[in-house]
Amino acid sequence: MAGGRGGSTTVVVVGAGVAGLTVANLLHRNGVDCVVLERRSREHVERRQRAGVLDHTAEQVYVRAGLDDLLTGVPRSGLLEFRVDGVSRLFDADRHTGGRTGKLMPQQVLVRRLMAAFADGGGDLRFEAGEVALHDVDGDRPHVTYRTADGVAHRLDARYVAGCDGFQGVSRAAVPPDAVTTYRHAEDVGWFTVLTDSPPPRHPLMALSRHGFAAHFGRGPGASRFYLQCPPGDDLASWTDERVWRELRLRLADPDLPTGPVVEKALIDARSFVVDPMAHGRLFLVGDAAHIVPPMGGKGMNLAIADADVLAGALTAAVRDGDDGPLRDYSATCLRRVWNDQEFSRWLGEVVFHGADPRTAGEFRWRLARARIDRIFTSPAAARAFAELMAGTV
Ligand SMILES: Cc1cc2nc3c(=O)[nH]c(=O)nc-3n(C[C@H](O)[C@H](O)[C@H](O)COP(=O)(O)OP(=O)(O)OC[C@H]3O[C@@H](n4cnc5c(N)ncnc54)[C@H](O)[C@@H]3O)c2cc1C
Repeated sequence: MAGGRGGSTTVVVVGAGVAGLTVANLLHRNGVDCVVLERRSREHVERRQRAGVLDHTAEQVYVRAGLDDLLTGVPRSGLLEFRVDGVSRLFDADRHTGGRTGKLMPQQVLVRRLMAAFADGGGDLRFEAGEVALHDVDGDRPHVTYRTADGVAHRLDARYVAGCDGFQGVSRAAVPPDAVTTYRHAEDVGWFTVLTDSPPPRHPLMALSRHGFAAHFGRGPGASRFYLQCPPGDDLASWTDERVWRELRLRLADPDLPTGPVVEKALIDARSFVVDPMAHGRLFLVGDAAHIVPPMGGKGMNLAIADADVLAGALTAAVRDGDDGPLRDYSATCLRRVWNDQEFSRWLGEVVFHGADPRTAGEFRWRLARARIDRIFTSPAAARAFAELMAGTV
């Protein structure tokens, strides 16, 4: 093992997504030493486009940490449009939460700013770290090995490891299967998502009609992300650009929807996944490494930030004050929020899927879904509960 990029640190953070970079920035601010290892190049990570709404709870993580600069110039997201059979209704989340609404923040903008903040503060961020492997996480002195792009192997000793490497990462695999319980649920629906260089909607938009569900969200001033419900196991090749725009115009009931170059197309699973506990020995799983929520609730990125906040606080208490209590509670503290957001995402998923296609959901469920939407526009208590969930679980 070579020494140059090895050595020792207090916390090794595996993965420079939103979870890893948030943990790293918060630790750095608290004076706790850490090194971030990221498998991909900086350019790749900076360009990766995914989520777009920072909920109020996640926003407050950065405000409390004095990282308000990350949020400069990012607009608020107070209104959500439901378009049912071509009829629009605007849900005013701002009014029902007393202003505790989120921000329209593309994930890659947040990631770029988090990276810059960490690097500007002298943080140690290592890209293109291949073959990352975790060792002795259930002992007192774990270590992480990896290989740099030039093929040289390195070893980093640490007191703790934060596994922030997403659903496909190596951290969760370092936990013996019999040490955790995993919960999975797959929706009987496929999700097709398209990223385009075309104008964003005036407000985030969810459209239900007999043609199937579609959603339109902004991803910056000239970019949009669309979601279209499709059959499970659908064929990506069948979604030609021409079909994409035709389906969107139909489903959004907008014959004049402006088009633009299609930048990315993907099929994603509408699935839920939770691992319990989110910790093993000195390894702590954060964000998508520990749980996946279906995208419609817009909670994946926000849960990652919330976990990161809990973990950074707990690691700081352990390292600075010798108090291991918050680390012991880490998993239970996070899982309470995770299950709450799973329930919200599943509920909303059911509303939009069942409310959109009576051929798959059945006429009865289709009408139930419409009643659920109607309720949030007619019952102040239901509206408030919905808006609170959008704002984020405290
Ligand atoms: C198409 C799409 C749309 C989405 N839309 C939304 C939305 O609207 N709202 C929302 O809240 N969420 C959304 N999500 C979910 C959200 O993007 C994730 O929940 C979020 O990225 C989780 O952050 P994370 O840091 O835990 O994981 P990631 O963002 O996946 O970051 C993990 C990092 O670890 C790195 N890594 C992986 N393996 C290794 C390894 N072996 N060694 C070192 N590094 C490694 C990866 O390269 C990556 O940089 C969407 C996801 C997708 C795919």
